[in-house]
Amino acid sequence: MSHISLPGDIPFNRPALAGREMDYMAQALEQMHISGDGPFSRRCHVCLENALGVKRALLTTSCTHALELAALLLNIAPGDEVIAPSFTFVCTVNAFVMRGARPVFCDIRRDTLNMDERLLEKLITPQTRAIIPVHYAGVGCEMDKIMNMAAAYSVPVVEDNAHGLFGRYRGRYLGTFGIMAAQSFHETKNFSCGEGGALLINDPALVERAEILREKGTDRSRFFRGQVDKYTWVDLGSSYLPSDLLAAFLLAQLEQREVILGKRQAIWRRYHRELDDWARDHGVGLPTVPPHCDHPAHMFHLIMPDVRARDALLAALRAERILGVFHYQPLHLAPMGLKFGGRPGMCPVTEDISDRLVRLPFYNDLNASDQDRVVRVVRSFRSAAVCRNGFDKAKPSNH
Ligand SMILES: *Cc1c(COP(=O)(O)O)cnc(C)c1O
Repeated sequence: MSHISLPGDIPFNRPALAGREMDYMAQALEQMHISGDGPFSRRCHVCLENALGVKRALLTTSCTHALELAALLLNIAPGDEVIAPSFTFVCTVNAFVMRGARPVFCDIRRDTLNMDERLLEKLITPQTRAIIPVHYAGVGCEMDKIMNMAAAYSVPVVEDNAHGLFGRYRGRYLGTFGIMAAQSFHETKNFSCGEGGALLINDPALVERAEILREKGTDRSRFFRGQVDKYTWVDLGSSYLPSDLLAAFLLAQLEQREVILGKRQAIWRRYHRELDDWARDHGVGLPTVPPHCDHPAHMFHLIMPDVRARDALLAALRAERILGVFHYQPLHLAPMGLKFGGRPGMCPVTEDISDRLVRLPFYNDLNASDQDRVVRVVRSFRSAAVCRNGFDKAKPSNH
């Protein structure tokens, strides 16, 4: 997924400046506050809290670390179970596995590729300590049903919202449903500072301890607010603060959220418009967005009829110097997943989709002529190598 590319290449992802990054980073250097929780970190916190209406937002060094912090806050311990989709990035579960939890994998829905809420109840046991929905591509999971189920069994929900910042489910922002939510500002995400993340906290009872765990287990935040006259070791903890230089970069991106979202939504709509008839004619699935979900256009994917068509399309793109990628290898079939009891057939939809999904190049500054090139290669794919692979005979499989 490298963004290093030659002229004429269309990469899968390319980070883009929103405008004031250099300016803000220069200001951070002038102020010479380059460790964590300086003025730019505080501005990012306020920006996220106000924009989303969360009780507390805390920047972290990554989404992975935000999830680790969430696992610490929930006192996850050996013997506990957490329910997460198998169709996700490893960090969604590893943050909890590191505390000794056993991941219990939930299959996904065929339409949104999100955790299938209809399967949830039979995965809940007396050991379940968290449910971790992932809003795939920034399209909201069925949060009404998930939250009801979680409440019925008194299990907290932690949203992995790495894809979904500023996305909405029934008008309400993703990341505001669970007791906590984790955001990513990795270079491949919609808003970025290279490496970074945030923990969003919706339960006020967790705020103070979150500040402590994030500050190496000390009450340093209280000290800076003048609430104690020295700070000391009071709890478990680690070091999860990003440098204020990175927060300066991030703030420039967050402030331009409307512009960034607008560009991404235009790219998404264009792919959809240009590929819709082709997809229908060839048994290819396009992303499904339920009417009650507003998504922040994190990605655009195709679901090919079978694994050979998927591999052939990726090769056809590569031949035109366009990088498409697939997504995710089922976690329950990875070497670690197998150790936790994963076996083939356990999450059949995940296994099927994982073989057939292609993500097309998608980044804020993908220009119209490059996007046209991608569309042309995809649309002409039929005549290239596919007929041999039975592409024409495949039935529509994602509707
Ligand atoms: C990118 C991603 C992460 C990890 O984000 P980092 O900031 O790189 O730690 C976690 N979960 C999902 C679903 C992601 O896409």
